[in-house]
Amino acid sequence: MSLKVEDILKKDQFSKEDLVTLLSANKEDCQLIFEKGKNVKAEFVGRKVYFRGLIEYSNYCSKNCFYCGIRAGNSRYARYQMPDEEVLEAARFALDNNFASIVIQSGERSDSKFVSTIEKLLKDIQQLSQGKLHVTLSLGEQSEETYLRWFEAGAHRYLLRIEVSNPDLYKKLHPNDHHHDYNERLNALHLLNKTGFQVGTGVMIGLPFQTLSDLADDLIFFRNLDIDMAGMGPYIEHEDTPLFQYRHELLPLRERFTLSLKMVAVLRIIMKDINIAATTAMQTIDPQGREKALLVGANVIMPNLTPVKYRQSYLLYENKPCLDEEAEECKSCLETRIFLAGDKIGYGEWGDSKHFKARHKE
Ligand code: SAH
Ligand code: SF4
Repeated sequence: MSLKVEDILKKDQFSKEDLVTLLSANKEDCQLIFEKGKNVKAEFVGRKVYFRGLIEYSNYCSKNCFYCGIRAGNSRYARYQMPDEEVLEAARFALDNNFASIVIQSGERSDSKFVSTIEKLLKDIQQLSQGKLHVTLSLGEQSEETYLRWFEAGAHRYLLRIEVSNPDLYKKLHPNDHHHDYNERLNALHLLNKTGFQVGTGVMIGLPFQTLSDLADDLIFFRNLDIDMAGMGPYIEHEDTPLFQYRHELLPLRERFTLSLKMVAVLRIIMKDINIAATTAMQTIDPQGREKALLVGANVIMPNLTPVKYRQSYLLYENKPCLDEEAEECKSCLETRIFLAGDKIGYGEWGDSKHFKARHKE
């Protein structure tokens, strides 16, 4: 017989069965999980939120993931790449506002022009900030050599979601070719770790064909990989994508949201000192989605610094929020919300993953 939620929460080690029970908890038991997530966060990483200014650098993408609005096969969006000056301007905004850290994210490209443009930008950002600004990259799968070049040019952290840790499910969500190979993606995570990055990964929650057993396996995957950071959020359908045909089989958005909150809380409980992001996709479903994620265990938030003129063209999914809010408004709106959530903002702090530090303390 499986244990009750309150008994599972008293444990230190969690079996897969425990994780499935937690993820399937009813409303009342959910509150116990959320409360535990909140307490573990306060004890192990403190009630503090770190800002990472998000720069959605370009929507050119050479891949065709079945879920994503900016996939190469979608001709509806005008493609853009931010000019260097605009990236540096956003970096300066982050610096002036004491964010201490930015994320550069874009569609996946690995041509040599792209690789050297990013390398140059990283060096310019180092120079502009005199090393004060930490940079996280989220630019997809690249060669070991590229990862090393970007690391040496000043990037410290890298986000590469495994998307789903079940290889069979991965196949259903991606074209069946060597550009979309599960083992390549997994290998990229190992390469990033080897290069010296703080490595973040994550999954989408509520995808077609995905089960609670898959999500429990995702949590075990994170634990086995000993990740430093996680970014997870609900899957949100986009009408210009192949997966849209399965929209009637999905959990209602509200349930996808609650399930995402449970994933955040349970991950905090099983990996106490990692950084966990309160993602934009959570806010897409619930206007207070990110604050709710902070309350149950998340400790990182990514205010959008992308110039408003590009935001309509970086729609990974539908109904993305804040499409018309410039960085300044975005920041003050977030400050109020975080205050309401009861956390402090770690202004001027890099907010490195405590887990990464612990792993590298020899
Ligand atoms: N091209 C890079 C980074 C940009 S995409 C990469 O793929 O790693 C960033 C993330 O957006 C992806 O990892 C995916 O998890 C998320 N995403 C894409 N489409 C989505 C959708 N329809 N709903 C929710 N998240 C989505
Ligand atoms: Fe490209 Fe990333 Fe979207 Fe896949 S998820 S299509 S790699 S931007």
